[in-house]
Amino acid sequence: MFFYSTNNPQIKTSFSEAVLQGIAPDGGLYMPSAFPVLPAEFFSTIHRLSFTEMSFQVARRFLQGSIGDDALEEIVSGALQMDAPLAAVQPGVYALELFHGPTLAFKDFGARFLARTMAHLTAHLDREITVLVATSGDTGSAVAQGFYNVPGVKVCLLYPSGGVSFIQEQQLTTLGGNITAVEVEGTFDDCQRMVKEAFADPSLAAALQLTSANSINIARLLPQMFYYFHAFAQLEDRRKPLVFSVPSGNFGNLTAGLFSWKMGLPVHRFIAATNRNDVVPEYLKTGQYRARPSLATISNAMDVGAPSNFARMAALFEYDPESFRKIMTGYAYSDEETKEYIRNVYAQCGYVLDPHGAVAFAGLHSYRRENREVTGVFLETAHPAKFRDIVEDILQQEIPMPDRLAACLDKTKKSIRIESSLDPLRDILLSL
Ligand SMILES: *Cc1c(COP(=O)(O)O)cnc(C)c1O
Repeated sequence: MFFYSTNNPQIKTSFSEAVLQGIAPDGGLYMPSAFPVLPAEFFSTIHRLSFTEMSFQVARRFLQGSIGDDALEEIVSGALQMDAPLAAVQPGVYALELFHGPTLAFKDFGARFLARTMAHLTAHLDREITVLVATSGDTGSAVAQGFYNVPGVKVCLLYPSGGVSFIQEQQLTTLGGNITAVEVEGTFDDCQRMVKEAFADPSLAAALQLTSANSINIARLLPQMFYYFHAFAQLEDRRKPLVFSVPSGNFGNLTAGLFSWKMGLPVHRFIAATNRNDVVPEYLKTGQYRARPSLATISNAMDVGAPSNFARMAALFEYDPESFRKIMTGYAYSDEETKEYIRNVYAQCGYVLDPHGAVAFAGLHSYRRENREVTGVFLETAHPAKFRDIVEDILQQEIPMPDRLAACLDKTKKSIRIESSLDPLRDILLSL
């Protein structure tokens, strides 16, 4: 198994290099060279495997030769210290709850696996690695939590002062230990620019083993396959056609679903559910890919106008809209429609959706109107308490805060505040 760049299949590298580089030298995203198909026996006995065992079996097909079985088992079980249960919402409709991790969102799966994988791949080096990330909120908290207390790794997070929510700032700044939060007097774009400058800085390159943990890293994508298999294993009737509805922004989650399908997971269809940032539903309709500036919505983790993983999906389907359509259907929803779904699903089923899960539920609902006989699983990507103000306003009642979120709200914020330039950042990095 090797990994190639979506920009140029001639650029190939090992898993280890793909993970440590993050992005290919030509700016492309890394793709696995093959999708090993799991044997029929795996699927007929899948309900007897634990989440960790099943995930190990999946990961192993890609990582054999790169990471030994014992180490991989440890990485997988360390990353999956949380469940991904299926909750019945309506007859034939299930929520795959991906919010049982430390930051209450599905990005925990990718971040925790990436952290442990990076630590393993660099364990032989004589110096610690330093992970530098710019964040506008959720990615940073998942990365911070994912790397927290992982030996051999130091993390430096840059976030725009005043540019993240109170909960997000608490999640970013209260861990301490190997996590350093840097509050930048500037915008998210400034933070991203400073990260780029730091990577290009010769004195930092000489002194540190600097690496990134951004969302396009292949080691964040692979673990997102695990819960598609886990969802299938939990179904009562595994013979009915299975439809996954995925609330999408950068399309990493949906791409991981497609990888699972390529490995033989029996999926009838994927729904690409978006808010008004409907580049992919539009592509499925017209065959034209039109990236554009993002629009702000209440499902803001999906406010993406140029989805990064489109490149990976296009590579899978050889840039042919017809091939996409054979397995994917797209729907887009306004904020008003999303709110309506949150209200109705609570009134009719007693289930509280967050705005992202609501978009996914909506996609499933639209599809099932014409396809009654399918089993539908929608990905509930965040706990509703994470978007408490919005959800409480819609439902006109209080959303209980899970203990692990409440716990970090009382802690003391620790951050280093700097102006938006490389000099003070360099000093911090060299002192870690
Ligand atoms: C990141 C995120 C998404 C979008 O996932 P992609 O992989 O970028 O498509 C959806 N919901 C929540 C809560 C997220 O944080």
